[in-house]
Formats: sequence, structure tokens, C-alpha cells
Amino acid sequence: MYTCIDSNNKIYTVDQYCLLKKTNKEPQIIMCPFCRNNLFLRAENSQEKTHFCHKKNTSCSSVDYKKLFDSSSRKKTTEEILQIKLEIIRSSYRIFKSIEQQFAINITEEMYITIFSKLLDKKVLNLLNITPNHIPYIWVNELGYYENTSYLYTNLGNVNLAKVWNLSSKKDSVICISEDKNGYACTSIVEVDLDCLNILSNRIPIWFLSKTIPSLLEIINLETSQSENLLKELLNTCEY
Ligand SMILES: [Zn+2]
Repeated sequence: MYTCIDSNNKIYTVDQYCLLKKTNKEPQIIMCPFCRNNLFLRAENSQEKTHFCHKKNTSCSSVDYKKLFDSSSRKKTTEEILQIKLEIIRSSYRIFKSIEQQFAINITEEMYITIFSKLLDKKVLNLLNITPNHIPYIWVNELGYYENTSYLYTNLGNVNLAKVWNLSSKKDSVICISEDKNGYACTSIVEVDLDCLNILSNRIPIWFLSKTIPSLLEIINLETSQSENLLKELLNTCEY
């Protein structure tokens, strides 16, 4: 992770922290803004990107989605995975809009595709209970940190975060931590809404259909004939 807080809730980026460290002015205790466990600086003088790291066994990270979406009971069939891929491409513009609206961020097509391929690498589509409605939230989790805000997808019933944030909800949520104008951390919670895409129009603008969808089809790895059929289908819902 690329931000931490000190014991006064002041937020520091890796760069700010390293700068203070040069003159021995860095805060002595640094914590994860989400779970409040202690962090340490890692990869300071190596080729890897310098970042903050949880101590062993205290990670709040939801990088391992298997913990959040129990998929241990059975494996998805190839057909089921194909179906979710098709559904996601059909919903891809609504997912894009939903991220922008729920998290008030402007995303570029390039960012959208890059983060999309990151979540495909994590085999998110193989998870049993995943739906296109989950994707906006998982997408921001994979985005991680953007424009002074850190994002974490979590199931508040599973982890200790509910206690830290004094929350009674056990729903899946995204915790968003941003910096106020004085440099202190402020938190907001976006609950996962499994109807979030249903309220949006399924009309796709031509710029999205002509540029973004072909890139998504490529990374999602459909057979050529499947891609062509899907593109034809989507052309009929296109907004000129
Ligand atoms: Zn943490």
C-alpha cells in the first residue's frame, strides 16, 4: 500500500514519508489507514517500488478474493465462466458509469482496461458467486489508490474492520480513505449494491463500443466467433 497514517490520523504517502525519513522526522508509529495495524516501509533501496507493508498475519488486504467469495464448494464449469464473461462485456459500459458515479472519479478508458485485466489475472470470474454488479467495487479495490483516495473492498462480517470503524453492517463494502485539506484521513463507506447496474441505461455510446469493448474482448479471451457475435448484438443497443 502507498499511504499510511500516524497516531494522530495524519496521512502520508510513501514519497512524503521517505522525504521526512531523510531528516529523521518521520512519524515513529505508522499504521494502515484501514485496519490500524502497524506498517513498515519495504523495498526502500531496491528496484521494487517502495511501499508500506503489514506485519506478518495482520494484513487487511482483500487481494485474495477467495476469502470474500467462498468458492470452495465446487469449481465453475467452462460454460459458466463463458456466461459471466459475456454478461460482463454486455454490462461493461454500465460498470464504467457505475464506478464514476458511486466513487465520484473520472476514469480514462486506458485505466478502465488496465485495472480490468488486473482483476482477470486474479481469476475473479472463476469465483462462484460473482456477478457483474460486484465488478465496480472489485475494480476500485484493484485500483487501490487514486487521486488522494485509497480503496479497500471488504466483507465487514469477515474481518476485524467492523470493529475499527464501529460498524454494525455485515455487508460487503468498499472503505474509501481520503485526505482532507489539512492532511488528515477521512473515511467513507460505500456499501455493495447488487442492483447498482440495473438502474443504469444499457445503451452503449459508440466511442465505448468502438474502442473500449474490443480491448476488453481481447483481454477476456473469447473465441473470434463469440466476439463477433457479441459485437453485433451490442451494435443494436448502441447510441449514435
Ligand atoms: Zn490494514
